[in-house]
Amino acid sequence: MRIGINYKKENQEILDIIKAQADKYDIIIDNDHPDVVFSIGGDGTFLKTVHKYIDKLDKILFVGINNGTLGFFYDYSVQDIPAIITMIYQGEFNSKEQPLLEGNIKFPHSSKQVLAINEIRIENPFHTLNADVLINDELLESFRGNGLIVSSSLGSSGYNKSLGGSLIDHDLSALEITEVAGLQNKVSSSLHNSLVLSGNKEIVFNNISPSAIVGYDHLAIKEDELLEVRIKYSDKKVKIIYKDEHNYIQRIRKSFIL
Ligand code: NAP
Ligand code: MN
Repeated sequence: MRIGINYKKENQEILDIIKAQADKYDIIIDNDHPDVVFSIGGDGTFLKTVHKYIDKLDKILFVGINNGTLGFFYDYSVQDIPAIITMIYQGEFNSKEQPLLEGNIKFPHSSKQVLAINEIRIENPFHTLNADVLINDELLESFRGNGLIVSSSLGSSGYNKSLGGSLIDHDLSALEITEVAGLQNKVSSSLHNSLVLSGNKEIVFNNISPSAIVGYDHLAIKEDELLEVRIKYSDKKVKIIYKDEHNYIQRIRKSFIL
């Protein structure tokens, strides 16, 4: 068994705790070919950890150790580490597969595919962004505003929530379109509310005005011209080890209700 570890600098001392316990079971620390990857930090660290191994997701189980940040994705804290390693060694743990979002982006002379855990978005913070929004190739609206985000169920508690979007139960496969400052005036107005769609739909942004940025999780792509962004759930999934008592309501209460 091989363990990989991804951590923020501040969490370096936790490495020793993991190494000490791994030694007991002859578990090898191998960041290049891990079976299980520990992500130590917060949700931001989790996103970076998953993207680091984005080409090997079918071979890896992720476990999150929260240390001092929001940690919405995380069930475990530092004191749980010895027990988790024992559980992994004995093969006795609960895990859950969460689907990723897939974005197919067309530029005038090229195309690119991206994967995301939380959301894929188009934004222009400096000029009004215009874009048509289509669902399964049927026009919903011509949007004007700062941006549009498409969030996964897992990502609904991230940027989507700050924009006033709804939280979506992780057991529900849904896509949520949420506006960033949609224009609402006599000449131009958009749906305004978030739209939650079944997870088998494809959302398309096209006729996009110049200088829009495509953001996905903590990453972004900027090209002068962007022709189209198609967003749907990917076949690729991220496998996460959770505690037995994994409970979405407790997770909301712990993270958002004081
Ligand atoms: P970051 O600073 O680490 O993340 C911003 C905050 O969002 C952190 O408090 C983070 O939790 C939390 N977060 C991330 N994903 C979450 C989720 N699914 N549910 C609940 N909270 C979540 O990260 P970044 O590198 O700038 O951007 C990565 C993500 O941050 C994006 O995917 C986006 O969802 C979110 N974001 C939020 C806003 C906003 O709310 N205004 C703006 C931009 C981006 P931790 O403290 O545990 O890291
Ligand atoms: Mn963070």
